[in-house]
Amino acid sequence: MPRLFGTNGVRGVTNQDMDGQLALHLGLAIGTFFEGLIAVGTDTRTSNQMLKNAAVAGLLATGCPVVDAGVLPSPALQYYVKKHRCAAGVIVTASHNPPQFNGIKVVDGDGTELDPDREEEIESIYFSQTWKPASWDGVGQVTSASPIPDYIRGVVHQVDGEAIARRRYTVVADCGNGAGCLAYPQLLRRLGCRVITLNAQPDGTFPGRDAEPTPDNLELLLSTVGSCGADLGIAYDGDADRSIFVDERGRYVYGDKTLAMMAAHLVRREGGVVVTPVSTSSCVEEMVTEAGGRVAYTRVGSPIVARAMREMEATFGGEENGGLIFPRHQYCRDGGMASAALLELMAQREEPLSELVAEVPDYALVKSKVACSHQNKPAVMESFRQRAQNEGLETDTTDGVKIVAEEGWVLVRPSGTEPIIRIYAQSRQQRQAEQMASRYREWVEELVAEKG
Ligand code: MG
Repeated sequence: MPRLFGTNGVRGVTNQDMDGQLALHLGLAIGTFFEGLIAVGTDTRTSNQMLKNAAVAGLLATGCPVVDAGVLPSPALQYYVKKHRCAAGVIVTASHNPPQFNGIKVVDGDGTELDPDREEEIESIYFSQTWKPASWDGVGQVTSASPIPDYIRGVVHQVDGEAIARRRYTVVADCGNGAGCLAYPQLLRRLGCRVITLNAQPDGTFPGRDAEPTPDNLELLLSTVGSCGADLGIAYDGDADRSIFVDERGRYVYGDKTLAMMAAHLVRREGGVVVTPVSTSSCVEEMVTEAGGRVAYTRVGSPIVARAMREMEATFGGEENGGLIFPRHQYCRDGGMASAALLELMAQREEPLSELVAEVPDYALVKSKVACSHQNKPAVMESFRQRAQNEGLETDTTDGVKIVAEEGWVLVRPSGTEPIIRIYAQSRQQRQAEQMASRYREWVEELVAEKG
């Protein structure tokens, strides 16, 4: 059976692979799979109304009542779904992708991203068109809700608001014209910050910057933080579940460092386990271990991290792309919660962000890739694993093959979507990381040629 859901729901270019019919049929399939109230929200994209209305028509046809939550950050919709015990949530968003893209993401009744088994069941209804329309008097109706104020209260409740307010922080928030516009400047003001906003009008053409908060896209934020004498800069992705921070000197803070800082802070306070994918920088484990905690590694993907966190009753978890999960609040990435938690960390430590970042150990990461057809990926990966084993190397096969050595580690992993095998090498020294990357890249190239 073909796959419909990728790593982040269903995505595509509007009216090419992501059109009204797909949304309608997906709504019918989702409404058949779940029974009961479904909350629907969107980010700020231009095709949201078209796709949302089509999906809602499908949901209503199967008899599901729908609550329209409007435009809001994904985590605010997820919080609503959990709190109001909806059967499920549907978010029309393509997260950090360019404006011509859009997508549909399904959230389970507990507010978490849907796990792959359940996605497959929805896919099977979708492809076999075995949805179940309701009788004329059983068709669903639409009501509306405004979940943002309650979401903001929920986040504020999680942190020491007094400690934050006392510091009178100046924060520059770059919402990237995405869903963060609707909630995060207000949230930061509620926490007692003086807020300067950038790209804070919702606009699905993304006129201000690309929706992905990479350093190249954040020049304006970096310079504004410096020139305003702000204490902190924050950038959100399109649906505002991820946040990236900028220190008071206008320097971009990479997501692995934020993850490490936050993990160590929470473990010092509460102890316990931190969950993160095998691809995450060792700076996280180093700081967590030093703080008296333990790191548990999972396969790559935020729904997998969230599920493992719940099973292990973890203290904290997340990914190094700025997706942080605070289980006391909810089991999903949350850009608003991450912002509040970082402000609390700064306030409690009474130190500027640059000093806190300086405590995080530096690791060099080298990324490389080798072209390999989807078809050959499993055989190449298996041969790679055998070769590593034959050479007596310490391997971890949580996701792909990770070789752990004295000087660092290498992770060799097939891409889920592209015809490539990725190679990540990490070491304390840049040169060592480069050497490791090129050594194992050669292995992969040889194996790909053999299967050719
Ligand atoms: Mg996102």
